[in-house]
Amino acid sequence: MPEGKIVKALSGFYYVLDEDGIVTQCRGRGVFRKKKITPLVGDEVVFQAENETDGYILEVKQRKNELVRPPVANVDQAILVFSSVEPSFSTALLDRFLVLVEFNHIEPIICITKMDLATKEEGKKMEEYADHYQKVGYPVILTSSETDEGIHDLAPFLAGKISVFAGQSGVGKSSLLNAIRPDLALKTDEISTHLGRGKHTTRHVELITIDNGLVADTPGFSSLEFTDIELEDLNYCFPEIQKASEDCKFRGCLHLSEPKCKVKEEVAAFKIPAYRYEHYTEFIQEIKDRKPKY
Ligand code: GDP
Ligand code: ZN
Repeated sequence: MPEGKIVKALSGFYYVLDEDGIVTQCRGRGVFRKKKITPLVGDEVVFQAENETDGYILEVKQRKNELVRPPVANVDQAILVFSSVEPSFSTALLDRFLVLVEFNHIEPIICITKMDLATKEEGKKMEEYADHYQKVGYPVILTSSETDEGIHDLAPFLAGKISVFAGQSGVGKSSLLNAIRPDLALKTDEISTHLGRGKHTTRHVELITIDNGLVADTPGFSSLEFTDIELEDLNYCFPEIQKASEDCKFRGCLHLSEPKCKVKEEVAAFKIPAYRYEHYTEFIQEIKDRKPKY
């Protein structure tokens, strides 16, 4: 049986892209309704072709993850788009996105835009931050859609993956996509209107092919709340804290006021930047203050 990925869902039809790049318009078979599985964009499915254009989905494979807004399954990576200026760069916001991305088992790629607008000093600061985050293990790309700086470094990351772009509005997500694929010119409007859309219309999502990868046409992580994250999860969402925590005296150390905490030692020795630790403790507090769900 042929297999493929759902790239679009509309009015009860699922558009399944196979390895050869052919899209088959499929309906779900009754089997799903019984199992109560709603196929999602990004799902890997087994299908049966009825003719050259139509078919039926027979099976939805186990998902690696599932975003709610927009609804996409099996997201491999998130391109976290942050402008160096206009709006100004915020490590607090970046760390928040990183936590949510890590929690969903998605690989982050940090993309800092509008480098052409940054002063020399601001540019230097961005390079410093890039260095910090790279040391944590995250790829960081400094870009400008205006001068094309860094654009070619981003494209190879997209190949063979399902990616979502994320970041505040106005940081340059649409411009970035247009810079990566100027040949999408005809579709450009479509992408920018999709990516620029507000919160209320992000239910529908489509995966578009860019550089042999699939990219969601709607930005991911529109909700930045830590609704499902528990205190002990946070450790794993900060890779450098997690690594240091292996040498904390207490198992389950939250790195707050416990004695012989390796994390606090590394912060004091400037091995972990103070702002990363501050955000960690702020997020801990936020989770503690969270109202119970029910
Ligand atoms: P989005 O809301 O994240 O999709 O952001 P847009 O791509 O719509 O960009 C917002 C504004 O920033 C637009 O006026 C763009 O022309 C501008 N912009 C985006 N990227 C750059 C850049 O690298 N350099 C400069 N100078 N302007 C940019
Ligand atoms: Zn500790």
